Amino acid sequence: MLTEYPCKKVEEGVYEINEFDGVSMYVIEGNEKALLVDTGAGIGDLKTFAERLVKGKPIEVMITHNHRDHAGNAPLFKQIHMSAADADIGPIIRPWTSKASRLRFARRSLETFPDRSYPWSENDIREFAPDQEPEVKRTEDGHIFDLGGRQVRCVLVPGHTPGSMAMIDSLTGAVFTGDCCGQNVGLGVRPLENPEMDHVSMEEARDGLIRLWSMDFDRKRIYSAHTDYRRFGHSLGEDIIPRDIRAMEMILAGRCRVETEEIPVLDLSVDHVVTEGISIQFHLDHLFRKRQV
Ligand SMILES: [Zn+2]
Repeated sequence: MLTEYPCKKVEEGVYEINEFDGVSMYVIEGNEKALLVDTGAGIGDLKTFAERLVKGKPIEVMITHNHRDHAGNAPLFKQIHMSAADADIGPIIRPWTSKASRLRFARRSLETFPDRSYPWSENDIREFAPDQEPEVKRTEDGHIFDLGGRQVRCVLVPGHTPGSMAMIDSLTGAVFTGDCCGQNVGLGVRPLENPEMDHVSMEEARDGLIRLWSMDFDRKRIYSAHTDYRRFGHSLGEDIIPRDIRAMEMILAGRCRVETEEIPVLDLSVDHVVTEGISIQFHLDHLFRKRQV
């Protein structure tokens, strides 16, 4: 099982681990313990790599949102943290996070960069048994991980999923945004496995980003979970969140041309707008807050 990953120190005590042109994870190291933000699609033995990186300090795990490419290797850990809303979507181990489904996702990087070669093989993606489900600690907005000498605060930013979380590091002012902002934003694109749940509206997604933007963090230190519009080891543009907010405002004002787009890797079609240099995928029926009857 593979135990080496592309890894860059991006801040004092902060490492970006990349899953071979796929998803990025972060390790934030304090004096007492470390926080691992996300677990990727689940290639290789991330736990062994992260433990080596922080020389055996205890590691807490925070999953920014309950998608297969962020929770893929979560079952390597006994316990993980996730927002209550995203925990309600469904358990970590389910059809979406099966080996076949994660492998399908991971193959995308092979198709995107056909001239590159990667060290992983299909055997480096485990099939987790249902009883390997990690204990999920339901984490609320404002929760603080005290790592010793630095605190990491969770901020609920619903939209991409109902319970997407961003994390702000007190020491560097860096913010780890998962998939809640960027040049390419998916809002409630994937169906929720829990039939009782619904995605938030685009209005609520916009309000969540406005709230995040009002908070105290360093605009030059915005680290997302994908490297498709951001170079490995680099921050997103410092204007990305206001641009995302403006793009949503434009859509809500009815000033955009909406196209339909197929997403083969998800087997679904979405509504799609490009405005303000931002690409937003969504479903038209989630635009506005549902009226109270
Ligand atoms: Zn996602």
